[in-house]
Amino acid sequence: MKKTIRDINVSGKRVIVRCDFNVPLNEEGEITDDIRITSALPTINYLIEQNAAVILISHLGRPKGKANPKFSLRPVADRLSSLLKQEIIFNSVDEVVNEEVREISANLKPGQIMLLENVRFRKEETENDPNFSKELANLADVYVNDAFGTAHRAHSSTTGIAEFIPAVSGFLIEKEIEFLGNAVENPERPLLAIMGGAKVGDKIPVIENLLEKVDSLIIGGGMSYTFLKAQGYEVGLSILDEEKIELAKHLLDQAREKGVTLLLPVDILAAKEFSNDAETSVFDIKDFPNDWMGLDIGDKTREIFKNEIIKARTIIWNGPVGVFEMPKFSNGTRSIAEALAESDGVTIIGGGDSAAAVRQFGLSEKMTHISTGGGASLEFLEGKTLPGVSVLQDK
Ligand code: ADP
Ligand code: MG
Repeated sequence: MKKTIRDINVSGKRVIVRCDFNVPLNEEGEITDDIRITSALPTINYLIEQNAAVILISHLGRPKGKANPKFSLRPVADRLSSLLKQEIIFNSVDEVVNEEVREISANLKPGQIMLLENVRFRKEETENDPNFSKELANLADVYVNDAFGTAHRAHSSTTGIAEFIPAVSGFLIEKEIEFLGNAVENPERPLLAIMGGAKVGDKIPVIENLLEKVDSLIIGGGMSYTFLKAQGYEVGLSILDEEKIELAKHLLDQAREKGVTLLLPVDILAAKEFSNDAETSVFDIKDFPNDWMGLDIGDKTREIFKNEIIKARTIIWNGPVGVFEMPKFSNGTRSIAEALAESDGVTIIGGGDSAAAVRQFGLSEKMTHISTGGGASLEFLEGKTLPGVSVLQDK
């Protein structure tokens, strides 16, 4: 168990908080979704209530180690200010930390909030350079990591800084570890995992780890065709990872050995081309034609998956089961989301696109926990320790 801000005295201290303010921006530089900002508010509010002076740090996009106004955190400062109804001190400083920033932070009063510029304006950030880590650490007395989305990266602002000042977790990381951790390590059973998405390669380590834990596993979406092929079915023009077919066979064998129920699609909604306007048809997997591509699960599969979801007490879902971005191929993913929403078991969503799908269907409130970290939640589900978590003090 890691210490949180509740476990230490932050009153009167200067607290530097690594947040994940990596929000999506449109062409005009406006924030299109502020869930990552609102997710950080419980930690910030708590620190303010405790009379801490708060210094916030984050990355945004990929400025590749150079200052670039396109990736400035100014829009985040503005949004934070209106959400908290409080002034946010923000100077767009190319070096992130300079003399002026040092002076402001030294004079920061309890209850005041300062946001630094995008830490990735400095190339030392992703290199985890101790000099930059120290520059950040010198601004404060205590470090709080609350950026679950980057906890799988060992950067200056996520791990390096913890070498220099006491480090604890914020409420967001605490919540992520609690929900994801319990779902995998201590779930109410049966435990079902639903895996989907485009690329098998990305998700194989997750499947390997989850096979050790789950009672049943559903595989849908783009990655299912590699498994179907491994079972000897033809998949036409559907996305297929030829190199992973052998590995898929091995995973199917492993599931059998471990007594894990493994469900794959039995019918496929296919199209002539990758387009929402394409001609579509549903095929049984036994007779999938060679000039069509699978873009969603069929009706029979939806029923089978739904019945498995109803039986489960804990469900971990990662990866849409179809090209949900196109309305014609969104019904499979929608039916999974709806079945999860109706479940009275614990429902955990990990993965950026899965979370986006749930939001698109307006079902976010019905889920037990939607992870804010795409890559980080995947690494967690792989059973890896996240560097941004392991540097924090133990209880
Ligand atoms: P997550 O972000 O939840 O981990 P992924 O990034 O692995 O999910 O995969 C999401 C993508 O997978 C979506 O863009 C979706 O369109 C795509 N996808 C799902 N099913 C298919 C399919 N049958 N063919 C091609 N792409 C698919
Ligand atoms: Mg994704």
